[in-house]
Order: sequence, then structure tokens, then C-alpha cells
Amino acid sequence: MRQIGHWVGGTEVQGASGRKADVYNPATGEVQAEVALASRAEIDAAIEAASVAQRAWGATNPQKRGRVMMEMVRLINRDMDKLAEALSAEHGKTIPDAKGDVQRGLEVIEFAIGAPHLLKGEFTDNAGPGIDMYSMRQPLGVVAAITPFNFPAMIPLWKLGPALASGNAVILKPSERDPTVPMMLAALFKEAGLPDGVLQVVNGDKEAVDALLESPVIQAVGFVGSTPIAQYIYENAARTGKRAQCFGGAKNHMIIMPDADLDQAADALVGAGYGAAGERCMAISVAVPVGDKTADALVERLVPRIEKLKVGPYTAGKDVDYGPVVTKAAKENILRLVNSGIEQGAELVVDGRDFALQGYEDGFFVGPHLFDRVTTDMDIYKTEIFGPVLTMVRAQTYEDALQMTLDHEYGNGTAIFTRDGDTARDFASRCNIGMVGVNVPIPVPLAYHTFGGWKRSGFGDLNQHGPDAFRFYTRTKTVTSRWPSGIKEGGEFHFRAID
Ligand code: NAD
Repeated sequence: MRQIGHWVGGTEVQGASGRKADVYNPATGEVQAEVALASRAEIDAAIEAASVAQRAWGATNPQKRGRVMMEMVRLINRDMDKLAEALSAEHGKTIPDAKGDVQRGLEVIEFAIGAPHLLKGEFTDNAGPGIDMYSMRQPLGVVAAITPFNFPAMIPLWKLGPALASGNAVILKPSERDPTVPMMLAALFKEAGLPDGVLQVVNGDKEAVDALLESPVIQAVGFVGSTPIAQYIYENAARTGKRAQCFGGAKNHMIIMPDADLDQAADALVGAGYGAAGERCMAISVAVPVGDKTADALVERLVPRIEKLKVGPYTAGKDVDYGPVVTKAAKENILRLVNSGIEQGAELVVDGRDFALQGYEDGFFVGPHLFDRVTTDMDIYKTEIFGPVLTMVRAQTYEDALQMTLDHEYGNGTAIFTRDGDTARDFASRCNIGMVGVNVPIPVPLAYHTFGGWKRSGFGDLNQHGPDAFRFYTRTKTVTSRWPSGIKEGGEFHFRAID
């Protein structure tokens, strides 16, 4: 059995805790590797070594740190196929989707090449007589990144690019369900010139996370995952005096106005609802057509598209639209929620419950489902299903549709499909959601903008990537300076405004 350890001090080391987790091939249901689960002592040792390595890295000039990012871009592109293969093998998504996962992380590394510009401070000449005032951004020290299973390349890279380019050392605790790609990325960072110890990857579960939260050395925690854990980490990071940005779950609504191009909307819904088996925090899981006529016309267009979807292992290449979900427990949870939808009175228009694939009977495949006439009190509306299940809630007016997005506890992403600029503009302005698409179903901002949800989709006050990330991973220090000739008249004994 392949063993996956930790990446510490610039090399892979075996776990010492004796605790391990199984890593599955979700297409076959077989265990393909075992990953070590770090103990508190292993976490503390990794943090200690990172703290030593960070001193020189933090003092390295930002151009040199930027050049490591530049080389990293070259290396990720060189190894794109290998990374995508390893990613698909553990996650289950198709190869083109796995490449997209790597690519969207790579773009943040490209952005981090601009660290010298992004870390520039502010300067006021002559803030007072003979006085200069300047602010500089300094690294925090050692920071922690705790990431989810669903984007094992992109989300670690979102954290690593800005945190490392800002001069921090990072302890990355990736998902224990697909740890291989984060380990490969650590090896690539070493090859790109990152000094040993500046990036440590420790695999683990709650024990490792709690050790990170309680360490007095860790200065900041960047988390992405489900909402209950995001809130737990946010609260505990605050309790121990750390800054934290914790991104959680989602229930993204797409509003379809009567004037929308319904073929375009149906294509968008199928891609955004079922792509990656619905395991995206930016998946559209709720379609909200406005008016029964729009709803009926949309269902008519959706059903044949959904019935044509090809579900299978990534190894089947172009013949597959989406793969299995990540674990047997995830599959069971999805099917449990589907059954609750039926019991609570929703109309199951496309039923994927009996989906089976010859030769892959033990794989974690879930067929596509479409529910119509869902109401806002049903569990399938309130809960994040994180599977290939699209729910449709019929709204009678635009205001009803908008109100649904306002009232839902999650606020990650949303979209509106319409031909009317005024409606689109009103929606973008009034919805309380972090990322909004106008005739774009998955509005994931590019690396130089920022990514983050509102309400219970995000805890903390700065977003991921873009300029916010450089603010999150640095502290501002402001210096007020007057040179000796400025006090030649003698000491100043009164506290007074600088004028
Ligand atoms: P998860 O919350 O189960 O796990 C995320 C991380 O937390 C993992 O590293 C895991 O080991 C750790 N963890 C799990 N349980 C823990 C516990 N009890 N105590 C401490 N740490 C714990 O999430 P997941 O299943 O890996 O990922 C899917 C979730 O992530 C979905 O809810 C999805 O919407 C969300 N997500 C959000 C975003 C975003 O940007 N908002 C992006 C991607 C995924």
C-alpha cells in the first residue's frame, strides 16, 4: 500500500503518530493509499522548524521571492499532466476539470509574482517639520492553511502564493481525502528555489487542526471547507489571538428571468449544477425561474440535457461529463437528502438514484437528479447537498426571487440570467452575496480580484487572492521619523498634534 507522509524540512517524512487514514479511488471504491495523520508533537516540530526558516525568508527581498513564484509557474505548467492525473485519481473529477483546478491555482501564483509591487508601503514626505511618515507591510511569521478536498490544487495555491510571496512560512494542512497533489506542489516549490522549512505540509485531521489553532507561534489561519468547521476555526483562532479568514459552504441560486435566453440558461445550469458532480462551492444548486411559463420552458430544456449527461471514471476520457463523488459517506448523504426531498413533497423530475456503471459497481457514482417545485422549507433547499442534484424553486416575481437569495443563510455566489440591463444591475446591487454572475453561471473572480462569500459562507474580513490576500498575510507598521538635526533645539515634553 502506498504511504503518504508529511513534507517537512524540504523532504517527505513518514508519519510518527501511528494514526492513518485511507485514501480512496472514488471510481472503484478501493483504498489506493494511506495517509499519515499528524500528532500534536509532529505539528509542533513542523511549526518550530518553519519559524526558524521564516526569519531568512522574510528578510529576503521581495523580487527574489517573486522569482520563486515565477519558476513555480514554469514547473506547474511543465507538470500539468502529472498533477491533473494525480488529482483525478484521488478526487474523481475529469482530467479537463482537474487541469482547470490546477490552472486557477497557477493564476494566483502568477499574481504573486507581483509581490514587490503589492508589498510597497506608503510614504509622506514632510508630515511635519522635518518629519517623514511611512508605512511598511511586514510578513506575519508562520501561518496555517487548512484546505478542503474539492480543489486540492487550486485552494492550497490560493493560500501559498500570497502567503509565501509576502515572506511568511506556511504550514499547509490539506484534506486527508486527496493529499497527493499538495505534496507534489511542495516538492515543486522546493525545485523552484523555496528554502527548506518555509513550506511544511502536514497531513492530518482534527488533532492536527487543533494543534495549529492552539500554537502560539501560528499568527494567522486561512481556512476553506464546510461552514460548521469554518465557524469553529474562526472562533478558536480568535480565542487564541490569531487573524483568520474562514470560507464555508454555499447554496448558490441562479435566477432566470422570463426574458432570458432559455437555451443559454439551460446549458449554464447543466454545467454549473452537475460539473465536478456538484462538488464545487460555486456550483449552482438552486434554479429560480420567474413565472410558471419560464419554469415549464426551462424544465423542458433541462430534462433532455440532463438525461444526456455521461457519468463515469476520469479514465474514460472525453466520454465523461462528471465523475464519482469523493467518498461512500458523501454518496450516502446525497441519496439521503434526495429521499428527504421526495418525502417532503418536491417533484423528482430526473431520478438518478438507480444509476450504476458496469465494472464500477463499488465506485461512488451518483446519477444526476432534478427536483422541481421545491419550497424554501424543505431540507434539500436549506442544506448544501454537494452532489449532482439541481433543485428548482418557482418564483412568481423578480422580487420573490431576489428575496430568496436575501433570506438564505449562505451567500457565496449567485447569478441572474436576463436580457434586461436594469434588472441585472438592480440584482447585483441589492443581493447580499459575495460573487455575482450576470449571464455567467459560476462567477469565480480571477486571481487579481478577490474571492469570498458573505453571510455564513465566509467568516473574517478579507477575501482570498487579489490585493486582499497580501493585506491578510502582512501587518502594517507605521514609522514616524525625525532625524537628529530636527531636535537640536532640545527635547519635546508635550504630546501634541503634528501640524
Ligand atoms: P470539511 O469542512 O470537511 O474539511 C475542510 C478541512 O477541515 C479539511 O482539511 C479537514 O481535514 C478539516 N476538518 C474536517 N473536520 C474537522 C474538524 N471537526 N475539526 C477540525 N478540522 C476539521 O470540508 P470538505 O468536505 O473537505 O470540503 C467541502 C466543503 O468546502 C463544502 O461545504 C464547500 O462548499 C466548501 N468549500 C468552500 C469554498 C469557499 O471558498 N467558500 C471553496 C471550496 C469548498
